[in-house]
Amino acid sequence: MDFRLTDAEARFQREVHDWLVANLPSGWGTPEHPKPEDPAEKVRFARWWQRRLFEGGWAGLHWPREYGGRGATPVEQFLFAEEYTRVGAPPMIDIGVGPALVGPTLIHHGTEAQKHRFLPGILTGDEIWCQGFSEPNAGSDLAACRTRAELHGDVFVVTGQKIWTSYARFADWCILVARTDFEAPKHRGLSFLLVDMKSPGITIRPLVEMTGVAWFNEVFFDEVRVPRENMVGRLNEGWQIAITTLAHERAGSAPHARIAGEMRDVLALARRFGRAADPRHRQRLAQSFVETEIVRLVAWRQVTEVMRRGQPGPEGSYLKLLWSETDQRLKELALDLEGPYAALARGAPAAPDGGRWEYEYLWSRAASIYAGTSEVQRNVIAQRVLGLPRGA
Ligand SMILES: Cc1cc2nc3c(=O)[nH]c(=O)nc-3n(C[C@H](O)[C@H](O)[C@H](O)COP(=O)(O)OP(=O)(O)OC[C@H]3O[C@@H](n4cnc5c(N)ncnc54)[C@H](O)[C@@H]3O)c2cc1C
Repeated sequence: MDFRLTDAEARFQREVHDWLVANLPSGWGTPEHPKPEDPAEKVRFARWWQRRLFEGGWAGLHWPREYGGRGATPVEQFLFAEEYTRVGAPPMIDIGVGPALVGPTLIHHGTEAQKHRFLPGILTGDEIWCQGFSEPNAGSDLAACRTRAELHGDVFVVTGQKIWTSYARFADWCILVARTDFEAPKHRGLSFLLVDMKSPGITIRPLVEMTGVAWFNEVFFDEVRVPRENMVGRLNEGWQIAITTLAHERAGSAPHARIAGEMRDVLALARRFGRAADPRHRQRLAQSFVETEIVRLVAWRQVTEVMRRGQPGPEGSYLKLLWSETDQRLKELALDLEGPYAALARGAPAAPDGGRWEYEYLWSRAASIYAGTSEVQRNVIAQRVLGLPRGA
């Protein structure tokens, strides 16, 4: 990997920076314009911001131009993520399922009619999406999915339950993995459907996480009718489509730039609390700094892989494992630096940084679960990257 930027890449980097600074709301992130925290507010803001990105030509950064994207190279995507974090622009995770997962999946496997119908609304933020994959007994083993979709003429009738469905309360559409053949081997009887979340028969129950926020939901389907034209790929061949979605989820969720920004904030925290002079804390700060830098370099390595192969591969599992565990250690360090004040919850008057690190610490526990648990990533690395034999 040659880390030097070409002239064109350096120009791109400046262009991103200048556009973001000019287009973020004035006083963004300060008391004049605080960042929204309530989920509904966050989603409302994210929709507005997505429209702004679209109008500025930054939506669908990595999508091909023929589908309304910017066709950015992997290096440009990397530079965009770094500048985006550097200026503190709003994380797009709140409505990220559409641009990051659904768009690339449809571009790869969708019919022309599906692309025409759904891609524009994703780019503009007019339609937001959720991911209906996990079930109470089908998480890591997604192929154990039991939600049933029966074909009656040109309509699927869907009955079952999904769980941990982030943003379902706010979503207009859902990518759903459902079982269409109960006799076939489990990977061969699944289909991939696009479901209108306003359809009769859908019930959504929010689940409150340990952070106190309700992002998650249970979603119940009771004879929900889905037109056959909303199936992506062929009947009973949805597993391959879901694999495409998951590959984009693992590769795209790498928040190396965010973690680097948080590392800078943790260093500032250590100085404010007078901890930087203590050798034990210095040792851990240095360790975290090195780990953060390794995450950045491994993310660059992944960029090289994508440039060679055109799409993310199983090596993304290594990056996912590395960043999620680095992230958790960094948040643990932040709490240790704060000392007893760390126990104060977000919003408590005496909480350092407004309770930011207490919240971030709790939230970071999820990083080694979503987009595939650490154990599952280790299995992928062992079998598909290193080629090790399976245990008995
Ligand atoms: C913040 C967050 C957001 C999420 N958002 C969504 C969403 O929007 N849509 C969605 O569909 N899902 C979502 N999920 C669910 C997520 O994909 C699942 O939690 C994850 O796949 C793990 O599944 P599970 O919780 O059923 O755990 P299980 O699969 O039951 O795993 C339990 C434990 O067993 C281990 N284990 C399982 N299989 C193996 C194996 N073969 N080898 C070794 N160890 C194994 C796991 O690592 C884990 O420690 C989200 C989860 C989180 C935390």
